Amino acid sequence: MRAAADILSLIGDTPLIRLRAASEATGCDIYGKAEFLNAGQSIKDRTALGLIRAARASGALKPGGTIVEGTAGNTGVGLAIVGAALGHPVVIVMPRSQTEEKKQAVRMHGARLVEVDPAAFSNPNHFVHFSRRLAEQLNESEPNGAFYTDQFDNPANRNTHYATTGREIWEQTEGRIDGFVCAVGTGGTLAGVSAYLRERNPNVAIGLADPPGAALHAWFTRGVLEGEGSSVTEGIGVNRITGNLEGLSVDHAWRIEDSEALAVLFDLVKDEGLALGPSSGVNIAGAIQMGRELGPGKTIVTILCDPGQRYAGKIYNPAFLRARGFKVPAWLDTR
Ligand code: PMP
Repeated sequence: MRAAADILSLIGDTPLIRLRAASEATGCDIYGKAEFLNAGQSIKDRTALGLIRAARASGALKPGGTIVEGTAGNTGVGLAIVGAALGHPVVIVMPRSQTEEKKQAVRMHGARLVEVDPAAFSNPNHFVHFSRRLAEQLNESEPNGAFYTDQFDNPANRNTHYATTGREIWEQTEGRIDGFVCAVGTGGTLAGVSAYLRERNPNVAIGLADPPGAALHAWFTRGVLEGEGSSVTEGIGVNRITGNLEGLSVDHAWRIEDSEALAVLFDLVKDEGLALGPSSGVNIAGAIQMGRELGPGKTIVTILCDPGQRYAGKIYNPAFLRARGFKVPAWLDTR
């Protein structure tokens, strides 16, 4: 039989895809790691599996114990899948502002979804603080206790990207990689992948692509945590040094405007048959910036985080784009 043992063995080992337009624009070979092909359709499936495997191994999560997390959505889908496969109830806290498609995906994978109003991190009702308190309460009331996975500050997140995403990129490029770039939500991907690649070759350039409103671009270029503006992207853009980002340095940092990320995404749909979520647009725009700085002939890798379908009602919705003053691509314009 050629069959996967279970759904969990379909997380990771994703292919690299050559991105034609990005490569042609820079004279480099730019590749995207196709994380939308994971079992739960995002990069966060790896995080979910890594967090839960570590928590079960340490005993912090007991058999049948409830998993609790606060998330923009994709980690919630991953945890719902991993929880179901391993026999854990899952409770997911999401800001109401995230797409309906991600909320649906969390619910239809069997997790309980709790929506909270979007709030600043300093507000006690920010989804991270809310979910941490909910986990403490459930730990008292549930027969097998509850575990707060804490994706932002739990180093098991970056460790899993070190051991899987980073290693896979190194092996798939046969060590011929000159640069890696991606955006940051928790920082698990950027910190874990860069640690692995630099360990193998200290000359691999590491780049951050930051959306408007996020504070890391200012942090890495000027040493201050400041963010200006706002962004239609989801799942990326932080205003603090998370536990997973601690100790990370980058060689390059770029602020990527929404209009630039969306233009990259919409061209990919029409010209290359790839429909991706907004953070992938930020990542590819960042990879193009890196290609321009490193010069022709380099090999650069970034992450294709999740599918466009998860944002059908937002960035793939002409009315949403028009209301925010973005250009609607002709192929999407149904008027
Ligand atoms: N893109 C999307 C769509 C995401 O959901 C996330 C995670 N929130 C990221 C990128 C960022 O990944 P990380 O948390 O590893 O920084």
